[in-house]
Amino acid sequence: MADETIGVVGAGIVGLATAREIALRRPGTRVVVFEKEQRVSQHQTGHNSGVVHAGIYYTPGSLKADLCVRGVSLLREYCQDRELPYREIGKLVTAVRPDELGRMEDLYERAKNNHVPDLRKVSQDEMRELEPHAAGIAALHSPRTAITDYPAIAREFAKDVTESGGEVGLGFPVTGITTVPGGVEVASGQDRVKVDRLILCAGLQSDSVAKLAQDGREPRIVPFRGEYMLLKPDRTHLVRGLIYPVPDPRYPFLGVHFTPRVDGSVEVGPNAVLALAREGYTLGRVSPRDLLGLAAYPGSWRMARRHWRTGVKEYRGALSTKAFMKDAGRYVPGVGAGDVVRGGAGVRAQALDRDGTLVDDFRIHRVGRITAVRNAPSPAATASMAIAEHIADAALDRE
Ligand SMILES: Cc1cc2nc3c(=O)[nH]c(=O)nc-3n(C[C@H](O)[C@H](O)[C@H](O)COP(=O)(O)OP(=O)(O)OC[C@H]3O[C@@H](n4cnc5c(N)ncnc54)[C@H](O)[C@@H]3O)c2cc1C
Repeated sequence: MADETIGVVGAGIVGLATAREIALRRPGTRVVVFEKEQRVSQHQTGHNSGVVHAGIYYTPGSLKADLCVRGVSLLREYCQDRELPYREIGKLVTAVRPDELGRMEDLYERAKNNHVPDLRKVSQDEMRELEPHAAGIAALHSPRTAITDYPAIAREFAKDVTESGGEVGLGFPVTGITTVPGGVEVASGQDRVKVDRLILCAGLQSDSVAKLAQDGREPRIVPFRGEYMLLKPDRTHLVRGLIYPVPDPRYPFLGVHFTPRVDGSVEVGPNAVLALAREGYTLGRVSPRDLLGLAAYPGSWRMARRHWRTGVKEYRGALSTKAFMKDAGRYVPGVGAGDVVRGGAGVRAQALDRDGTLVDDFRIHRVGRITAVRNAPSPAATASMAIAEHIADAALDRE
């Protein structure tokens, strides 16, 4: 429909990719992005590992699997076209103990089902050639796994939106969402903007923004901080590509890994520590409001009962560099606590169901004029352009 106005809450990579997709798909449509911060990608998009995942881990047929693989090809082409960093440095998923071999085999089957390109099993000798300083008894090698600069991509998406006649409104914290005759009214304090349809891509705030829109209260968001160490510059030569553990299938996180960045630095991390504030980038940051919200939700207690042991281990790593590096050192034995300095941190928005299950797949639904992204954890940056297509299909459908 021409002359519609579509609003998008959130100028992270998912919101911006979606705004761009709609602006390009429907040239007559006016797209307005509402962002509470003064710049784009200030939260998850600006604090992630910068990895373009190839699609190894995800349940075949899930949104994550399908949108990740499609997202990679869209993103690669976009980065080439705009001359944005995109380097296929490859990834080893490394088994260091015999009991991990079965899980590695499962992962290989899963990746094949997901059509991950060029993935293969490699022997210890081949591993040595690829990563002379890595340990392990066997590995999967994904040569097409890449690294990029997601904040730069997000800025480019924002540019596409404005160049197509749309608007990216910064410093506009959405505080009210009301369905009114013929549209949806979006409020920020006393300011009101009426749109025809609204898409919610609010990351760490996705449940509270959904609540404003009278969408269901569940799933809730649990913030998991991911802290990084940085290899000292004279140790970065020990790592050529990405080195990952075989993940524990009980958790949605991939485990501490070695990640070269496009600026030449090498990160170790992220861990996964329950954050005491949704936007809590440091250990000491506590939000009583966020904590009370978590404590009042039965899903939090159920999750705690199931995963407290892992939680304690992750906290130990957060408090002690030595404990953090003990795990990482199993993959690159030459690297210890003396070889790193503390780096940055990001906070993951992980959706949690009432029964204590950490929601694995992307969750996106539409109710009337409002489409809500309720869970978009990793690999949502990788998949952002494909998620945008998926959301645009749902949101623009006349139903
Ligand atoms: C530590 C870490 C490592 C990761 N590594 C990778 C990786 O290597 N590869 C990968 O593909 N993915 C990775 N991810 C996941 C990826 O970063 C996220 O899935 C992705 O950035 C989600 O984008 P988003 O737009 O949904 O959320 P965000 O980037 O968090 O954006 C949401 C936006 O909504 C805004 N907002 C919230 N509430 C309001 C409101 N009321 N009014 C207006 N605006 C509002 C926020 O300010 C924010 O800008 C990682 C994430 C983390 C935290």
